[in-house]
Amino acid sequence: MRAMVLDKQGEKLTLKQVPMPTLSGTQDVLIQVSMCGICRTDLHVVDGDLKFPRLPLIPGHQIVGYVKECLSSCRFKIGDRIGVPWLGGSCGQCNYCLNNEENLCDNAKYTGYQLNGGFAEYCSADSRFCFSVPEGYPDSQAAPLFCAGLIGYRAMNKIRQAKKIGFYGFGASAHILTQLAVSQGKQIYAFTRAGDSKTQAFAKSLGAVWAGSVDEPSSLDAAIIFAPSGDLIPLALKNVKKGGTVVCAGIHMSDIPSFPYEILWGERHICSVANLTRFDGEAFLNLAPLVPIRTTVHVYSLDKTNEALEDLRQGRIEGAAVIQI
Ligand SMILES: [Zn+2]
Ligand SMILES: [Zn+2]
Repeated sequence: MRAMVLDKQGEKLTLKQVPMPTLSGTQDVLIQVSMCGICRTDLHVVDGDLKFPRLPLIPGHQIVGYVKECLSSCRFKIGDRIGVPWLGGSCGQCNYCLNNEENLCDNAKYTGYQLNGGFAEYCSADSRFCFSVPEGYPDSQAAPLFCAGLIGYRAMNKIRQAKKIGFYGFGASAHILTQLAVSQGKQIYAFTRAGDSKTQAFAKSLGAVWAGSVDEPSSLDAAIIFAPSGDLIPLALKNVKKGGTVVCAGIHMSDIPSFPYEILWGERHICSVANLTRFDGEAFLNLAPLVPIRTTVHVYSLDKTNEALEDLRQGRIEGAAVIQI
């Protein structure tokens, strides 16, 4: 089969012919991939910010495809349309798993990191960690729901009571969550790079009440930082009221600069959001069609995966990038 392969971190992916995945053990479903979303985490894996991936690796963890083959343990049937997220497996036995925190599992396996992912014609997966794809979404528009959507949803749950929310970095996740937040009567303030009037206009078109540069002052109940820049944490803290929370939604960030204690004082919180649980996934995928959340996608062919990653790095994508297999 054709696949985009990472041989060494820091290098580009290479289009190759590789053997088909085989099923055994918990990898009990073979999926013919239709679409696979691109996520900033893919950039962190390719660039080497996230250490020790399986190598060679097929990245990609927002997979939508069709069941091609099943072992007896598989909970889907041939032909079903299913999605594969970042959490590809958890141990089920550690204290985190036993306390409904499988997102923190000590022995988790992640799709497109320790497990081969979806930038390929086929992938295998553990069916217990896959989801049915909600109806009403074309494959391309469903793909970004599987990471940008559901890990963003977990970040939103950390600030459930907040009304005025700042989004720092307006990419795939923010464009989905703005629609969810607006449907819940919340006000979204979109903070982008200075002068990025195109992204600011995009945020407003989705219902943001305000859009402007990351260094502008504001008075928010909470903030979610999607961009991988630690510099944003003090900026967001300064804009959050007493008792408010700043959620860091990315898996990797540059170092956080030192800041005066007074901007944390007043019971302000900083927290990170890590991965997802299956419960998050089911809850979000049930909610998405009811809002209804619509995703804006830019589709690239498999051999253009490096270009798509570069466009994401340069902030050239409005909404989400998706690879069509
Ligand atoms: Zn575990
Ligand atoms: Zn992701």
